[in-house]
Amino acid sequence: MKRWSILYRGSLSSCNYACDYCPFAKTSNTRSELAKDRDELERFVTWVEARPDQEIGVFFTPWGEALIRKYYREAMVRLSHLPNVWKVAIQTNFSTSTSWVKEANLQKVGFWMTWHPTQTSMERFVEKCFELDAIGASYSVGVVGFKEELENIQKLRSLLRPNRYLWINAFKRDPKYYRPEDIRAFEEIDPYFRLNTVYHPSLGGACQAGETSFSVDGNGDARRCHFIREPIGNIYDSSFASCLKPRSCTNQTCGCFIGYVHMDRLGLYDEFGDGILERIPRTFLPEHTKAPMMTRTSSIGAE
Ligand code: SF4
Ligand code: SF4
Repeated sequence: MKRWSILYRGSLSSCNYACDYCPFAKTSNTRSELAKDRDELERFVTWVEARPDQEIGVFFTPWGEALIRKYYREAMVRLSHLPNVWKVAIQTNFSTSTSWVKEANLQKVGFWMTWHPTQTSMERFVEKCFELDAIGASYSVGVVGFKEELENIQKLRSLLRPNRYLWINAFKRDPKYYRPEDIRAFEEIDPYFRLNTVYHPSLGGACQAGETSFSVDGNGDARRCHFIREPIGNIYDSSFASCLKPRSCTNQTCGCFIGYVHMDRLGLYDEFGDGILERIPRTFLPEHTKAPMMTRTSSIGAE
């Protein structure tokens, strides 16, 4: 049985930060909205628990910031201790405390952390990284590759431990934004940067999305990925597994890491291995997170 990667995005849609380009900046949810989100998450975690024979990776990709909510922290800890969970990861600004991470199974928990320079200083952000280093948690760190930020990003690279991966998301709105020398400069920091500077032609191409990877919302509706709206089923239907099958992409292009990483022709499952959800290339993965679990003969998708 092939293992699954599930991108979970519940009803939450709020954030404690105020990045000026983001629709969730300084938004809040009502008590009843948060209660709904918590109930949905509880149902989802219980569903994962009830599938001991299916290897499952969970990647929280919330609208906004989820780790400031205790119930997300508790869900990550709980999932990380399940034998059938091969990874639980989250996209986060990590503005919350790191102390709870000690409760998680460090072999299976991972963080995709983004530094937002207008919201917190580099020093405070790096301090948070050092706290996670001390705990022994697995994480990647990332920024948007604005050209005027190059020196800051180089400084951030110099402050982080050398074995921590720093990814750079390309600013893609203007196709002529980067000169070849800009790309080379960012590539010296993130060897995978060039891959992120383009929208990959994907129409008709083979992709694990919809077969071994899928996104799930708070109602349990599953879609092949976050970029194709058409549902493929609902995880709370008993026959859901039969909805998963090889599919080719119906979009013209795929430009986000959380999407194109599943395209077969890019071969990124080999490059990222068990760090694929929290965006850590194999060569940067901490040793203790490479430990075998269940049947290592089964694989993410096409391997
Ligand atoms: S931290 Fe993320 S979700 Fe929050 S405002 Fe900034 S970009 Fe938006
Ligand atoms: S290539 Fe991208 S948009 Fe197309 S199915 Fe895969 S993840 Fe979705």
